[in-house]
Amino acid sequence: MSFSALGLRPDLLRAVARQGYTDPTPVQREAIPLVLEGRDLLAGAQTGTGKTAAFVLPMLQRLADSSTRDRRIRALVLTPTRELAIQVEESVRVYSGGQARSTAIYGGVGFGGQVGALRRGAEIVVATPGRLLDHARQGTIDLRSVEILVLDEADRMLDMGFIRDIRQVLALLPDRRQNLLFSATFSREIRSLAEGLLDRPASVQVTPENTAVELVAQVVHPVDRERKRELLTHLVRTRQIDQALVFTRTKHGANKLVEQLNRDGIAAAAIHGNKSQPQRVRALADLRAGRILLLVATEVAARGIDIEALPHVVNYELPMVPADYVHRIGRTGRAGVTGIAVSLVCVDEGPLLREIERLLKMPIEKVEIPGFEPNRAIRPQPIKLRSGQRGGMQNGGSAGHGRGHAAPTHRGAPAGSAGRNAGRGRAGRRPDRGPRRQERSSAPGSSIGNRGWSGMPGERRG
Ligand code: AMP
Repeated sequence: MSFSALGLRPDLLRAVARQGYTDPTPVQREAIPLVLEGRDLLAGAQTGTGKTAAFVLPMLQRLADSSTRDRRIRALVLTPTRELAIQVEESVRVYSGGQARSTAIYGGVGFGGQVGALRRGAEIVVATPGRLLDHARQGTIDLRSVEILVLDEADRMLDMGFIRDIRQVLALLPDRRQNLLFSATFSREIRSLAEGLLDRPASVQVTPENTAVELVAQVVHPVDRERKRELLTHLVRTRQIDQALVFTRTKHGANKLVEQLNRDGIAAAAIHGNKSQPQRVRALADLRAGRILLLVATEVAARGIDIEALPHVVNYELPMVPADYVHRIGRTGRAGVTGIAVSLVCVDEGPLLREIERLLKMPIEKVEIPGFEPNRAIRPQPIKLRSGQRGGMQNGGSAGHGRGHAAPTHRGAPAGSAGRNAGRGRAGRRPDRGPRRQERSSAPGSSIGNRGWSGMPGERRG
């Protein structure tokens, strides 16, 4: 499904295309039409799922549909942290093509600048609750004309003790408004907040089931960009990987890998958007019958296929959208069977890996394979979403999510992992959130900004 099927206006579709997004993520697919209808929404979605665009895009459209000339605040987004407030406000600017009058209000910085920005007139305010209330008390903000309220990462706001602040903010808003609540988890507290806040809400749930992730042992093998195929062959030959679904980003990448594997004497076949239905069916039958060991697939192609509990999923390349990682590894370890997800990660993919770890809220164990230790002298290169191939991004493949990806800035290194099964449980540690989206590239199919390995591959392990 493309963005145009969601009912968004052409200017927003252009903005989305400028970001390089070709397909909406699941939360966007579900939430955008509901928000456009004016419904209240309870959404279970966490960072990395594309949730920000899921509320910012339809919010911009609804405001534009009833645009007014006055300078009152019409939309209010509450976030737990100043970093998130900054990110969301930046998304507002990006998706509105700089047209929306928006401002971010958060603590820890001077009051005066924010007062000035509010005075000049902001239609959309993205704020942390405490500082917002400071403004309300000082009379420097008027929330009586808010039409759309978004609580982003509501569970975190409650964890951070903002419930009273939130209730105080609610009391400053008009009764008639549209309310959207996004939360990764649904505690009793969140439900009771939602009950009081939302009016006959639609609900959307895309947060990955923890159990799916927990049933899969995950490991990252750091390796040089040019040695991935060699490593994969090695893992298969040494029986560290048996039958597996192998993910590449592009159709071209899938074809090339299959050719090389076949040359290495490993039976493999590709399935992707350019393969006919009979070809796909045959590849699947071959896999089931054990005639091939590896089925190389792009994201989209893999979605519809039904393979029971494959022992391994291999991320030959990491997906561009963190949530896709969870979908991919969900292809193993089904029905109570423990699966293993192996990711071959090169220096270029450090930022993608960190985003995935942030989504999982745990680090993934890094294990270097002797003889394939990455050469630390190799510098990261931007990931080419088109790999010089026509149509690389159009369909098939996580490249279908091609985008000017948010390259995270340096965040703390993921906590070192311990033990072979470090990836199994939820470590419960939430890696720090740093400002993101600082190196957004502007053209579809262009490359991702990249800062390399920082915090990436574990120290060498034996
Ligand atoms: P969020 O969950 O809102 O923090 O978004 C996670 C990341 O996904 C951000 O870097 C977004 O730029 C990116 N993103 C959002 N929507 C899409 C999409 N439809 N296709 C590809 N990337 C997306």
